[in-house]
This record gives sequence, structure tokens and C-alpha cells, in this order.
Amino acid sequence: MEFSEFADLPIIDCHAHIPLRIRKEDDLKKEAETLKELIKKGYLTQMYLSAGSLGLYLKVKYPGFFYAGCPLPNPEASRRVDWDRYLSRLMEAGFDGVGEIVSKPAPRRERIPLNDPYYEGFWSTCESRGYTVLCHVADPEEFWDERLAPSWAKERGWIYCGDEYPSKEELYNEMEEILDNHPRLKIVLCHFYFMSADLEGLSSFLERHRNANVDLALGIELIYNISKRRDDWRTFFIEYGDRIFFGTDIGVSRSFQQHLDRIWLIRNFLESDEEFYTPSTADQLLTRYEEPFRGLSLPRHILERIYSANFRRLWGAEPKNVKVDLAVSICEEMGDRMTVNLLKTAKTKEMP
Ligand SMILES: [Zn+2]
Repeated sequence: MEFSEFADLPIIDCHAHIPLRIRKEDDLKKEAETLKELIKKGYLTQMYLSAGSLGLYLKVKYPGFFYAGCPLPNPEASRRVDWDRYLSRLMEAGFDGVGEIVSKPAPRRERIPLNDPYYEGFWSTCESRGYTVLCHVADPEEFWDERLAPSWAKERGWIYCGDEYPSKEELYNEMEEILDNHPRLKIVLCHFYFMSADLEGLSSFLERHRNANVDLALGIELIYNISKRRDDWRTFFIEYGDRIFFGTDIGVSRSFQQHLDRIWLIRNFLESDEEFYTPSTADQLLTRYEEPFRGLSLPRHILERIYSANFRRLWGAEPKNVKVDLAVSICEEMGDRMTVNLLKTAKTKEMP
């Protein structure tokens, strides 16, 4: 299907980034413009950005279009954080939620598990104050197997063979401990929680943890795996339609076309009944499989939930306003000169 043929519904992307390689003021201004333009050309309504304090800049520059997730302090700088104070100040400054927090596999001596003492008080603060957390746990299972891992993953060092790496189960156990202890925590687990190869496993996980949700950010393997059991998964999507969130991981993609391709892939997957492939213009992380994907052709009321209603329920009906003075002093404390400059130059009155 073409973009113009897709359902005319509000769409909020819950999972987007500004690439870390962009660190010059002018380039950031350009990328901000690109994302704003993408909202228009990609038929999005809004976007939740995990881009550190830069998210605040985009909120000021383009009011109403961006939600922003706050970053966590560098654990090397401070192992003891007063989470209630830290998070409530950031939320007051204008952040809408927390993260993306990333718990990708890493050698045990380097990684900080989500249940490490560093996080003491973090999860309970988010739970009691109702801050929604976007959280990446684990990776596709192929990455634990040298023979199955795609070459683009190996090139990035995303290969987890050997005893020094935690298993996928270990990472899941850490998350389950948190979910057990915080049953009211508002949380969205990225990339379908890397469980697209295990429909029964994901159903039972979602039944055990009624507060857990998943996003659809690619991980292209999720479209591939789901296509293989398309009819069963279609039933699942209808049953769990209020637990699934639209996300893209834009920012892993680089060019405007690549960003668009990510939006198109997920929408075509949810809305069409077509057999289709990864577009040739898409970014390299989107594996070109030999077999086609197959669209789920979901009913409109389910699309409505996945595209925006679920997001608004968790993160709020509209993005929060930024208190620019507070945002500037927080960024100054963080030593983030660039965002301070950007915030000061952003024309708060400029309407899009
Ligand atoms: Zn991400």
C-alpha cells in the first residue's frame, strides 16, 4: 500500500532517537527540522524522542509535536542517585517519561543489571509517581548464535557468545523480578520484547504481568517471525491490541528516506494483506529476507489503539510544556552546554 492509502488515524511513534553521531549544533538543528518534516510526510501526529536533554529542545522548538524521555545519570559519575528528586525535577522541567533505558547484553563485568543497587528506588519512584518507562531488554535470540547472527549485527559487536555474556533468560529474569515487585509500573518493552518467535511465551508473559506492554520498533525479525504464523499472531494482535505500541527506532536509520521506510514497513505490516519485502532503500539493519512478509490487515479499532490510544493512556493526552529556565539550569548542571545554547536560541513563539 501507499502512504496515502493507509488509515487516516492519529499516530504517535513511541520509539525514536537522534543519532549519537550528530553532536554539532548546526547538524542538530537540521536533524530537528528533518524529524519535524518526517512527522508531516510520514503521516505521524507526534513522536516520543529518546534523545537525552535534546528532547527538550525539540519540544520548545516545535511545540505540540514531541514528547521526550529523560536520560538517566551516568552510573560512573554517581552510583547513588536520589531518584525521587532527580526524576521529579526532570519531569517538572518538561520531560514526559523515562528512557529508552537500555539493557542490552554486555560482558558481565561491564553491565549494570536492571535490578542492580544503582536502580534502588528508581523503579518504585516510577511506579508511585506514574512515570512511564520505555525499556529495551535483551536482543534477538540469533545474536547469541554465531551461525545465525546477521552480518550487520556482528559488525556492530552484537554477538554474545561465551560465558561472560548473560543469557537471554537471565536478562528476562531481571525484568520479571522488577515487574513482580512493581505491579503498577507503567512500562513499554521495546522491539516486541524480542519474543516474536514465541507467541505462547509472549501471551503467558503478558498474562503474568498485566502492566507490561510491548512496542513494534524494528527488529525486522519481528515482522519476519510474525509473518510465519500470520493467522495465529493476527488473533494475538486483536486480543492484546491494548498492550501493543507503534514504534520505529528512527535514528538507527540515517536518511529521510530510511526513516520513512521504517514507518511504511510497520504500517504496511499492520494494515495491508499484502506479501511484501524490505524496501531496497531501507537501512542496513533491516535484513533482506528471501521469503516475503505478510500483512496482518488489522481492524480499524485495533489500529487506533496501537497507533495512539495506548500511548496517550500511558504518557498523557498531550506532550508537557517545557519550563525553559528550569530546563536550562538542569542542562547546565549536567554540563550540557550545547543543549543550553540550543534552548536559548529556540524561538518559543514560533508556530509550526
Ligand atoms: Zn531504541
